[in-house]
Amino acid sequence: MKVLVINCGSSSLKFTLFDMADKSVLCKGLVERIGMDGTKLTYQAKGQKIEEPLNISAHNEALAPICAKMTDATVGVIKDLSEIKAIGHRVLHGGMEFTQPIKVDEAVKAGIRKCFPLGPLHNPANLGGIEACEENFPGIPNVAVFDTAFHMTMGPEAYLYAIPQEYYKKHGVRKYGFHGTSHKYVYGRVCEFLGLDASKARVISCHLGNGSSLCAVKGGKVVDTTMGLTPLAGLVMGTRSGDIDAAVVTFLQQQENMTPAQVDTLLNKKSGFLGVSGKSSDMRDICSLRAAGDKDATIAYDMFLHRLVHYIGGYYLLLGGVDAILFTGGIGENSYETRADIVAALAPLGVKLDAEANKSRGQEVVISTADSAFKAVVMPTNEELMIAMETARIVEG
Ligand code: ADP
Repeated sequence: MKVLVINCGSSSLKFTLFDMADKSVLCKGLVERIGMDGTKLTYQAKGQKIEEPLNISAHNEALAPICAKMTDATVGVIKDLSEIKAIGHRVLHGGMEFTQPIKVDEAVKAGIRKCFPLGPLHNPANLGGIEACEENFPGIPNVAVFDTAFHMTMGPEAYLYAIPQEYYKKHGVRKYGFHGTSHKYVYGRVCEFLGLDASKARVISCHLGNGSSLCAVKGGKVVDTTMGLTPLAGLVMGTRSGDIDAAVVTFLQQQENMTPAQVDTLLNKKSGFLGVSGKSSDMRDICSLRAAGDKDATIAYDMFLHRLVHYIGGYYLLLGGVDAILFTGGIGENSYETRADIVAALAPLGVKLDAEANKSRGQEVVISTADSAFKAVVMPTNEELMIAMETARIVEG
C-alpha cells in the first residue's frame, strides 16, 4: 500500500510518499513560501533533488505540481495517482475530541475546526491541507493524526490545572501535550530495539529539538508530559520560555503595557535560548558560544539542563523507576555533549554513560554501559512514518 503523508503549515506543505510494504520513502519534499513571493517546490526522489519556482498563491494549488512530479516519466515514482490508497495528515490539536487517529469525514472536519482556538496557527492550516487533498484526490481516504492524541491516556491528576474546574469544563483548559506522534513512535521502537514488553515498559522519552518535550510512558500509556494547553509549557526551548510563574504574564502586561498578543510573542518567539543568550535559538550556536566562554549562552544551556534534570527526576518517581531513557529530535539525536551532560546529571539514579557509544549520531544506539541501572538510548524519531503507519492501520480497518 502507498500512503501519502501531508504536513501543512501556514505557508508550507510538506509531503512524503511511503511504500508501506517495506516502509520505504518513495519521494518527499515541500512547497514553501505559499502566499508570498518566491514560492518554491523541492522534490526528492531516486537520489535526485529538484528545486523549482512555483506560480501559485494557495495551498490547494500546491498539490497539482507535486502530483505532476510524482507521476513524471523521469523523476516520478508512481504511474498513476490511483496507486495512492490513503493520505495521512498531521493535525496539531485534537482537543478532548480526538484520542486516536481518525478517518476524516464532515464531523471530523467540524471537530478540527472546533479546536481552532486551541491551535490557532496550526489547525486552520492542517484543515486546509485536508480540504486540498479532498479536492485533488477525490475518493482517496484522508486520515487525521493528532499531535495530542497519544497524551490523552494521561490521568486527571496529571492533566488538570489547579484552577476552578469550570474553565476545564467550559473551554477545555487542561494539559494536552504535543509531539505525541513522535513519543509514541520512539516508545514503540525502543521496546522493539531493547526487547522490552510494550505493555509494561517504563520509558522517559526526551524529544529535544527547537521545540522540546519530555514524556513519561508506562505500558504504552502517558503518565505525564511537559507541554501543556499549548506547546509553550515545560522545558527551555529554542524560542519558547517553557514553564514560568503565570503571574509573569499579568505583571508584564501591567508594567510594560504589553497586550496579550505581545506577551504571547515574547514567550513563544523571543524567549528560550534566544531570549536568554540574546544571540541564537539554535543549540549548535549555544554550544559553540558556550565553548568560547559566552556567559549568556552558558546560562541558557545550564537552565535547559537544570529543568530537564528536574523533570526527569520527577518522572522517574512517577513511573516507579525506568527501563530506558531515550533521546530524540535534532538535539537528542545529534548533540552528544548534551546527552553526556544529561546522563552525568542522572548518575544518582545509577545510569552510566558509554562515552564511545555516545559519539554516534542519528542512529539507534544504546549509549549506557552494560552495568548501568537502566538503558540510555538514542532513538531517531520518524513522525512521517508513524503518521503513515497509523493511516494504513485506520484504512485497513
Ligand atoms: P524542530 O523542533 O523544529 O523539528 P529539530 O528537531 O530539527 O527541530 O531540532 C533542531 C535543533 O537541533 C536545533 O537547536 C539544532 O541546533 C539542534 N541540532 C541539530 N544538529 C545538532 C548537532 N549536531 N549538535 C547540536 N545540536 C544540533
